[in-house]
Amino acid sequence: MLHLGKQLVVRAPKNRLSAAAVTGSGQSSGRNLDQNNNIHSQKLVGPNQCHKRLSSTSQSSHVGPMKRLAGKVAVVTASTDGIGFAIAKRLAEDGAAVVISSRKQKNVDNALAELRKLNLNVHGLKCHVSEPQDRKQLFEETISKFGKLNILVSNAATNPAVGGVLECDEKVWDKIFDVNVKSSYLLAKEALPLLRQEKGSSIVFVSSIAGYDAFELLGAYSVSKTALIGLTKAAAKDLAPEGIRVNCLAPGVIKTKFSKALYENESANEAALSKIPMGRLGTSEEMAGVVSFLVSEDAGYITGEAIVAGGGMTARL
Ligand code: NAP
Repeated sequence: MLHLGKQLVVRAPKNRLSAAAVTGSGQSSGRNLDQNNNIHSQKLVGPNQCHKRLSSTSQSSHVGPMKRLAGKVAVVTASTDGIGFAIAKRLAEDGAAVVISSRKQKNVDNALAELRKLNLNVHGLKCHVSEPQDRKQLFEETISKFGKLNILVSNAATNPAVGGVLECDEKVWDKIFDVNVKSSYLLAKEALPLLRQEKGSSIVFVSSIAGYDAFELLGAYSVSKTALIGLTKAAAKDLAPEGIRVNCLAPGVIKTKFSKALYENESANEAALSKIPMGRLGTSEEMAGVVSFLVSEDAGYITGEAIVAGGGMTARL
Protein backbone atom coordinates (compact mmCIF):
# COMPACT_ATOMS: atom_id res chain seq x y z
CA MET A 1 0.00 0.00 0.00
CA LEU A 2 1.13 3.52 -0.71
CA HIS A 3 1.23 6.26 1.87
CA LEU A 4 1.08 9.96 1.37
CA GLY A 5 1.86 10.62 5.02
CA LYS A 6 0.14 13.06 7.31
CA GLN A 7 0.38 16.07 5.06
CA LEU A 8 0.79 16.70 1.41
CA VAL A 9 2.05 19.98 0.08
CA VAL A 10 0.95 20.55 -3.47
CA ARG A 11 2.87 23.41 -5.01
CA ALA A 12 1.10 26.16 -6.85
CA PRO A 13 0.87 25.69 -10.60
CA LYS A 14 3.62 27.38 -12.55
CA ASN A 15 2.77 26.68 -16.15
CA ARG A 16 -0.23 26.06 -18.31
CA LEU A 17 -0.97 22.58 -19.61
CA SER A 18 -2.38 21.91 -23.06
CA ALA A 19 -5.53 19.82 -23.17
CA ALA A 20 -5.62 16.30 -24.58
CA ALA A 21 -8.86 15.08 -26.08
CA VAL A 22 -9.94 11.66 -24.97
CA THR A 23 -12.59 10.06 -27.09
CA GLY A 24 -14.98 7.20 -26.50
CA SER A 25 -15.48 4.01 -28.44
CA GLY A 26 -17.11 3.84 -31.83
CA GLN A 27 -20.66 3.11 -32.92
CA SER A 28 -21.58 -0.10 -34.61
CA SER A 29 -23.49 -1.65 -37.45
CA GLY A 30 -23.20 -4.81 -39.52
CA ARG A 31 -22.41 -8.32 -38.22
CA ASN A 32 -19.37 -10.59 -38.35
CA LEU A 33 -18.41 -13.96 -36.94
CA ASP A 34 -15.19 -14.28 -34.96
CA GLN A 35 -13.03 -17.39 -34.85
CA ASN A 36 -15.16 -18.76 -32.02
CA ASN A 37 -18.26 -18.15 -34.10
CA ASN A 38 -19.50 -15.50 -31.74
CA ILE A 39 -21.56 -12.92 -33.55
CA HIS A 40 -20.20 -9.37 -33.38
CA SER A 41 -21.54 -6.22 -34.87
CA GLN A 42 -19.01 -3.86 -36.29
CA LYS A 43 -18.53 -0.84 -38.46
CA LEU A 44 -14.97 0.03 -39.41
CA VAL A 45 -15.05 3.65 -40.40
CA GLY A 46 -11.60 4.92 -39.55
CA PRO A 47 -8.53 4.68 -37.38
CA ASN A 48 -10.44 5.32 -34.18
CA GLN A 49 -12.53 2.22 -34.53
CA CYS A 50 -12.16 -1.18 -32.97
CA HIS A 51 -9.49 -3.77 -33.69
CA LYS A 52 -10.54 -6.00 -36.57
CA ARG A 53 -9.01 -9.24 -35.36
CA LEU A 54 -10.47 -11.26 -32.52
CA SER A 55 -8.29 -13.60 -30.51
CA SER A 56 -8.85 -17.28 -31.05
CA THR A 57 -8.32 -17.64 -27.31
CA SER A 58 -10.68 -14.87 -26.25
CA GLN A 59 -13.25 -16.35 -23.90
CA SER A 60 -15.72 -13.53 -24.15
CA SER A 61 -19.26 -14.60 -24.84
CA HIS A 62 -20.09 -10.99 -25.57
CA VAL A 63 -22.59 -10.56 -28.37
CA GLY A 64 -23.24 -7.03 -29.52
CA PRO A 65 -21.32 -3.99 -30.74
CA MET A 66 -17.63 -4.75 -31.17
CA LYS A 67 -15.57 -2.87 -28.61
CA ARG A 68 -12.41 -0.94 -29.32
CA LEU A 69 -10.13 -3.35 -27.41
CA ALA A 70 -11.86 -6.52 -28.61
CA GLY A 71 -9.35 -9.28 -29.26
CA LYS A 72 -6.60 -7.61 -27.20
CA VAL A 73 -4.93 -9.13 -24.15
CA ALA A 74 -3.73 -6.80 -21.39
CA VAL A 75 -1.62 -7.17 -18.26
CA VAL A 76 -2.20 -4.49 -15.63
CA THR A 77 0.04 -4.60 -12.55
CA ALA A 78 -1.08 -3.52 -9.07
CA SER A 79 -4.65 -3.88 -10.23
CA THR A 80 -6.66 -5.12 -7.27
CA ASP A 81 -7.48 -1.64 -5.98
CA GLY A 82 -7.44 2.05 -6.87
CA ILE A 83 -6.31 3.25 -10.27
CA GLY A 84 -4.98 -0.16 -11.37
CA PHE A 85 -8.30 -1.87 -10.63
CA ALA A 86 -10.20 0.82 -12.53
CA ILE A 87 -7.83 0.44 -15.49
CA ALA A 88 -8.26 -3.35 -15.53
CA LYS A 89 -12.03 -2.98 -15.32
CA ARG A 90 -12.17 -0.38 -18.09
CA LEU A 91 -9.90 -2.33 -20.47
CA ALA A 92 -12.06 -5.42 -19.92
CA GLU A 93 -15.25 -3.40 -20.44
CA ASP A 94 -13.72 -2.15 -23.68
CA GLY A 95 -13.33 -5.74 -24.83
CA ALA A 96 -9.84 -6.84 -23.73
CA ALA A 97 -9.03 -10.02 -21.85
CA VAL A 98 -7.21 -8.72 -18.77
CA VAL A 99 -4.74 -10.26 -16.33
CA ILE A 100 -4.85 -8.58 -12.93
CA SER A 101 -2.36 -8.96 -10.09
CA SER A 102 -1.04 -7.57 -6.83
CA ARG A 103 1.01 -8.73 -3.84
CA LYS A 104 -1.78 -10.37 -1.86
CA GLN A 105 -3.67 -13.38 -3.19
CA LYS A 106 -6.71 -12.40 -1.11
CA ASN A 107 -6.90 -9.04 -2.87
CA VAL A 108 -6.54 -10.76 -6.23
CA ASP A 109 -9.40 -13.14 -5.37
CA ASN A 110 -11.67 -10.30 -4.24
CA ALA A 111 -10.95 -8.20 -7.31
CA LEU A 112 -11.47 -11.18 -9.64
CA ALA A 113 -14.82 -11.91 -8.00
CA GLU A 114 -15.93 -8.31 -8.46
CA LEU A 115 -14.88 -8.18 -12.12
CA ARG A 116 -16.38 -11.58 -12.94
CA LYS A 117 -19.70 -10.47 -11.44
CA LEU A 118 -19.69 -7.94 -14.28
CA ASN A 119 -19.11 -10.78 -16.74
CA LEU A 120 -15.67 -9.47 -17.68
CA ASN A 121 -12.99 -11.72 -19.18
CA VAL A 122 -10.28 -11.63 -16.50
CA HIS A 123 -7.63 -13.82 -14.95
CA GLY A 124 -5.56 -13.01 -11.88
CA LEU A 125 -2.55 -14.06 -9.87
CA LYS A 126 -0.27 -12.84 -7.12
CA CYS A 127 2.56 -10.71 -8.46
CA HIS A 128 4.85 -8.49 -6.43
CA VAL A 129 6.46 -6.50 -9.24
CA SER A 130 9.90 -6.60 -7.60
CA GLU A 131 9.93 -10.41 -7.52
CA PRO A 132 11.50 -11.92 -10.67
CA GLN A 133 9.68 -15.23 -10.23
CA ASP A 134 6.32 -13.45 -9.85
CA ARG A 135 6.89 -11.44 -13.05
CA LYS A 136 7.88 -14.61 -14.91
CA GLN A 137 4.70 -16.32 -13.72
CA LEU A 138 2.66 -13.25 -14.70
CA PHE A 139 3.62 -13.53 -18.36
CA GLU A 140 3.59 -17.33 -18.43
CA GLU A 141 0.02 -17.40 -17.11
CA THR A 142 -1.01 -14.66 -19.53
CA ILE A 143 0.15 -16.83 -22.42
CA SER A 144 -1.27 -20.07 -21.07
CA LYS A 145 -4.64 -18.43 -20.36
CA PHE A 146 -5.08 -16.00 -23.25
CA GLY A 147 -2.38 -17.00 -25.77
CA LYS A 148 -0.76 -13.62 -26.39
CA LEU A 149 -0.05 -10.13 -25.02
CA ASN A 150 -0.91 -6.81 -26.67
CA ILE A 151 -0.92 -4.34 -23.78
CA LEU A 152 1.22 -3.83 -20.68
CA VAL A 153 0.17 -1.29 -18.05
CA SER A 154 2.86 -0.87 -15.37
CA ASN A 155 1.04 0.72 -12.46
CA ALA A 156 2.69 -0.43 -9.22
CA ALA A 157 4.44 2.06 -6.96
CA THR A 158 5.48 2.46 -3.38
CA ASN A 159 6.20 5.36 -1.08
CA PRO A 160 7.46 4.05 2.24
CA ALA A 161 8.61 7.40 3.64
CA VAL A 162 7.52 11.00 3.78
CA GLY A 163 10.04 13.81 3.49
CA GLY A 164 12.32 15.87 1.31
CA VAL A 165 14.43 14.20 -1.34
CA LEU A 166 17.79 14.61 0.39
CA GLU A 167 16.37 13.52 3.72
CA CYS A 168 15.56 10.16 2.17
CA ASP A 169 17.35 7.20 3.73
CA GLU A 170 19.42 5.24 1.19
CA LYS A 171 17.53 1.99 1.81
CA VAL A 172 14.21 3.75 1.34
CA TRP A 173 15.52 5.37 -1.86
CA ASP A 174 16.54 1.93 -3.18
CA LYS A 175 13.13 0.46 -2.34
CA ILE A 176 11.28 3.30 -4.08
CA PHE A 177 13.43 3.02 -7.20
CA ASP A 178 13.29 -0.77 -7.17
CA VAL A 179 9.47 -0.90 -7.17
CA ASN A 180 8.61 2.26 -9.08
CA VAL A 181 11.32 2.39 -11.74
CA LYS A 182 13.34 -0.81 -12.00
CA SER A 183 10.26 -3.06 -11.94
CA SER A 184 8.63 -0.98 -14.68
CA TYR A 185 11.76 -1.25 -16.82
CA LEU A 186 12.00 -5.02 -16.19
CA LEU A 187 8.30 -5.64 -16.84
CA ALA A 188 8.58 -3.83 -20.16
CA LYS A 189 11.78 -5.68 -21.06
CA GLU A 190 10.27 -9.06 -20.17
CA ALA A 191 7.00 -8.32 -21.97
CA LEU A 192 8.76 -7.20 -25.13
CA PRO A 193 9.24 -10.60 -26.81
CA LEU A 194 5.48 -11.15 -26.44
CA LEU A 195 4.49 -7.62 -27.52
CA ARG A 196 6.73 -7.97 -30.59
CA GLN A 197 4.67 -10.92 -31.79
CA GLU A 198 1.50 -8.79 -32.06
CA LYS A 199 0.61 -5.89 -34.29
CA GLY A 200 0.02 -2.49 -32.65
CA SER A 201 1.18 -3.43 -29.15
CA SER A 202 1.62 -0.79 -26.52
CA ILE A 203 2.95 -0.06 -23.04
CA VAL A 204 1.69 2.49 -20.52
CA PHE A 205 3.69 3.48 -17.45
CA VAL A 206 1.80 5.14 -14.59
CA SER A 207 3.80 8.13 -13.40
CA SER A 208 2.43 11.13 -11.45
CA ILE A 209 2.06 14.87 -11.68
CA ALA A 210 4.64 14.84 -8.86
CA GLY A 211 7.11 13.64 -11.49
CA TYR A 212 6.92 17.10 -13.08
CA ASP A 213 7.04 19.24 -9.97
CA ALA A 214 8.10 17.32 -6.87
CA PHE A 215 5.67 17.24 -3.96
CA GLU A 216 7.78 18.53 -1.07
CA LEU A 217 6.94 15.63 1.26
CA LEU A 218 7.26 12.99 -1.45
CA GLY A 219 10.77 13.86 -2.60
CA ALA A 220 12.24 10.50 -3.65
CA TYR A 221 8.87 9.21 -4.88
CA SER A 222 8.54 12.30 -7.09
CA VAL A 223 12.00 11.72 -8.60
CA SER A 224 11.09 8.09 -9.31
CA LYS A 225 8.03 9.33 -11.18
CA THR A 226 10.19 11.74 -13.20
CA ALA A 227 12.32 8.75 -14.16
CA LEU A 228 9.25 7.00 -15.55
CA ILE A 229 8.60 9.92 -17.89
CA GLY A 230 12.21 9.52 -19.09
CA LEU A 231 11.77 5.76 -19.44
CA THR A 232 8.66 6.38 -21.54
CA LYS A 233 10.48 8.73 -23.90
CA ALA A 234 13.56 6.52 -24.29
CA ALA A 235 11.64 3.27 -24.80
CA ALA A 236 9.19 4.95 -27.20
CA LYS A 237 12.06 6.03 -29.46
CA ASP A 238 13.62 2.55 -29.40
CA LEU A 239 10.35 0.78 -30.20
CA ALA A 240 8.71 3.23 -32.61
CA PRO A 241 10.26 1.62 -35.71
CA GLU A 242 8.65 -1.66 -34.66
CA GLY A 243 5.23 -0.05 -34.26
CA ILE A 244 5.16 -0.59 -30.49
CA ARG A 245 3.93 2.53 -28.70
CA VAL A 246 5.02 3.57 -25.21
CA ASN A 247 3.13 6.23 -23.30
CA CYS A 248 2.65 7.42 -19.78
CA LEU A 249 -0.24 8.50 -17.56
CA ALA A 250 0.57 11.20 -15.01
CA PRO A 251 -2.36 11.39 -12.58
CA GLY A 252 -2.95 14.45 -10.45
CA VAL A 253 -4.41 13.87 -7.00
CA ILE A 254 -6.81 10.93 -7.28
CA LYS A 255 -9.17 9.64 -4.61
CA THR A 256 -7.69 6.24 -3.66
CA LYS A 257 -6.17 4.66 -0.54
CA PHE A 258 -2.89 6.25 -1.58
CA SER A 259 -4.24 9.76 -1.13
CA LYS A 260 -6.43 8.93 1.90
CA ALA A 261 -4.27 10.92 4.30
CA LEU A 262 -4.99 13.92 2.16
CA TYR A 263 -8.75 13.86 1.73
CA GLU A 264 -9.46 12.55 5.24
CA ASN A 265 -7.62 15.49 6.77
CA GLU A 266 -9.74 18.60 6.37
CA SER A 267 -6.95 21.18 6.23
CA ALA A 268 -4.73 19.08 3.95
CA ASN A 269 -7.73 18.46 1.71
CA GLU A 270 -8.53 22.17 1.53
CA ALA A 271 -4.89 23.04 0.78
CA ALA A 272 -4.77 20.50 -2.03
CA LEU A 273 -8.09 21.52 -3.53
CA SER A 274 -6.99 25.15 -3.59
CA LYS A 275 -4.21 24.10 -6.01
CA ILE A 276 -6.50 22.17 -8.32
CA PRO A 277 -8.31 24.46 -10.78
CA MET A 278 -11.19 22.00 -11.16
CA GLY A 279 -11.64 22.12 -7.39
CA ARG A 280 -11.94 18.38 -6.82
CA LEU A 281 -9.85 15.22 -6.67
CA GLY A 282 -9.81 13.00 -9.74
CA THR A 283 -11.36 9.55 -9.87
CA SER A 284 -9.72 6.23 -10.74
CA GLU A 285 -12.28 5.83 -13.52
CA GLU A 286 -11.09 9.07 -15.12
CA MET A 287 -7.52 7.71 -15.10
CA ALA A 288 -8.74 4.44 -16.61
CA GLY A 289 -10.39 6.29 -19.48
CA VAL A 290 -7.08 7.90 -20.42
CA VAL A 291 -5.27 4.55 -20.39
CA SER A 292 -7.98 2.90 -22.47
CA PHE A 293 -7.53 5.66 -25.04
CA LEU A 294 -3.73 5.40 -25.00
CA VAL A 295 -3.69 1.65 -25.65
CA SER A 296 -6.38 1.81 -28.33
CA GLU A 297 -6.03 2.48 -32.04
CA ASP A 298 -7.54 5.92 -31.35
CA ALA A 299 -4.03 6.76 -30.09
CA GLY A 300 -2.30 4.93 -32.95
CA TYR A 301 -0.01 7.89 -33.75
CA ILE A 302 0.81 8.79 -30.14
CA THR A 303 4.02 7.52 -28.60
CA GLY A 304 6.53 8.86 -26.09
CA GLU A 305 3.88 11.08 -24.51
CA ALA A 306 2.87 11.58 -20.90
CA ILE A 307 -0.75 12.61 -20.47
CA VAL A 308 -1.34 14.64 -17.35
CA ALA A 309 -4.80 14.09 -15.90
CA GLY A 310 -4.71 16.56 -13.06
CA GLY A 311 -7.85 18.67 -13.07
CA GLY A 312 -6.00 21.62 -14.54
CA MET A 313 -2.88 21.45 -12.34
CA THR A 314 -0.02 22.46 -14.55
CA ALA A 315 3.00 20.35 -15.31
CA ARG A 316 6.25 20.95 -17.13
CA LEU A 317 9.66 19.35 -16.88
P1 NAP B 1 -3.70 2.28 -4.18
O1 NAP B 1 -5.12 2.67 -4.23
O2 NAP B 1 -2.98 2.31 -2.88
O3 NAP B 1 -3.60 0.79 -4.82
C1 NAP B 1 -2.42 0.15 -4.84
C2 NAP B 1 -2.55 -1.21 -5.57
O4 NAP B 1 -1.25 -1.65 -5.84
C3 NAP B 1 -3.22 -2.30 -4.76
O5 NAP B 1 -3.93 -3.15 -5.65
C4 NAP B 1 -2.04 -3.05 -4.14
O6 NAP B 1 -2.45 -4.37 -3.84
C5 NAP B 1 -1.04 -2.96 -5.30
N1 NAP B 1 0.40 -2.99 -4.99
C6 NAP B 1 1.06 -2.19 -4.13
N2 NAP B 1 2.38 -2.47 -4.17
C7 NAP B 1 2.55 -3.44 -5.10
C8 NAP B 1 3.67 -4.15 -5.60
N3 NAP B 1 4.91 -3.92 -5.15
N4 NAP B 1 3.48 -5.08 -6.55
C9 NAP B 1 2.25 -5.34 -7.03
N5 NAP B 1 1.14 -4.71 -6.59
C10 NAP B 1 1.28 -3.78 -5.63
O7 NAP B 1 -2.80 3.17 -5.16
P2 NAP B 1 -3.26 4.12 -6.37
O8 NAP B 1 -3.55 5.46 -5.85
O9 NAP B 1 -4.29 3.43 -7.19
O10 NAP B 1 -1.88 4.23 -7.19
C11 NAP B 1 -1.67 3.53 -8.40
C12 NAP B 1 -0.60 4.23 -9.20
O11 NAP B 1 -0.99 5.57 -9.46
C13 NAP B 1 0.77 4.31 -8.51
O12 NAP B 1 1.78 4.16 -9.48
C14 NAP B 1 0.80 5.73 -7.96
O13 NAP B 1 2.11 6.22 -7.81
C15 NAP B 1 0.06 6.45 -9.07
N6 NAP B 1 -0.49 7.75 -8.67
C16 NAP B 1 -1.48 7.84 -7.73
C17 NAP B 1 -1.98 9.10 -7.39
C18 NAP B 1 -3.09 9.29 -6.38
O14 NAP B 1 -3.36 10.44 -6.01
N7 NAP B 1 -3.77 8.22 -5.93
C19 NAP B 1 -1.45 10.25 -7.98
C20 NAP B 1 -0.44 10.11 -8.92
C21 NAP B 1 0.02 8.86 -9.26
P3 NAP B 1 -1.64 -5.32 -2.77
O15 NAP B 1 -1.66 -4.61 -1.47
O16 NAP B 1 -2.39 -6.62 -2.78
O17 NAP B 1 -0.27 -5.46 -3.36
